Amino acid sequence: MRLRVFGSGSQGNSLAVRSGGTLLLVDCGFSCRELERRMASCGVSPDDAAGLFFTHDHSDHCKGIATFRKRHPCVPLYANGNTADAIAALTGVDDGWNLFETAESFAVGDFTVTSFSIPHDAADPVGYLFDDGDGALFVGTDMGAATFGVRDALARATCAVLESNHDPVLLRMSDRPASLKQRIAGRCGHLSNGDAAELVREVRPSRLKTLLLAHLSRQCNAPYLALEAMQPALAELGRPVTLAALDQDSPSALYEF
Ligand SMILES: [Zn+2]
Ligand SMILES: [Zn+2]
Repeated sequence: MRLRVFGSGSQGNSLAVRSGGTLLLVDCGFSCRELERRMASCGVSPDDAAGLFFTHDHSDHCKGIATFRKRHPCVPLYANGNTADAIAALTGVDDGWNLFETAESFAVGDFTVTSFSIPHDAADPVGYLFDDGDGALFVGTDMGAATFGVRDALARATCAVLESNHDPVLLRMSDRPASLKQRIAGRCGHLSNGDAAELVREVRPSRLKTLLLAHLSRQCNAPYLALEAMQPALAELGRPVTLAALDQDSPSALYEF
């Protein structure tokens, strides 16, 4: 399986995962032009995608969809019903949807796709596990807390894109309004660096080879803080795991697992 993250953070999110001949995309949170530019720089063609999966209806995950849909009408859109409805209301994209029930597993090309519910202040947000039989990619960002479904999916992952949104001290010290600070730190907000590390400690994912820290806040986090918080939790696993922090402005390295 091969993974490329085109960008991660509150200004936009999108990634591509490939196994055999099947290419899947997750989220479309950049303008279509910007996403196409980043995809081209990585040699990924949007029209090759067998599906574009949405996690939730916040604009940093869906803002490019209207133009993407016009320019790449052959790519099927996937979401649960509430998320598709919310994105349609926000963007006008009301056709091309393949609806699934959260937690049901289904095949798309070489992948078995399973979604899991996450606590976040959106219509009906989910994370995903994309399993090709050899490996499994966990995608879990934009969640204020880890549910059973999150833990179960992470336990099966060989590669994880896991939220490590903020450093609690930097969040407290930031000039954001108190209500926004509460939202971010709350149960329907975002995982802190410590929350992400605690989750890895609890789950002890036995198959994990690659851990990519995602959705880092620009104002209230820094890559070295997120990495420093996670390193002790990975050390407890007692075997090497590749660890990196994802960037908002540029695509990631190509990860194979
Ligand atoms: Zn987000
Ligand atoms: Zn969100």
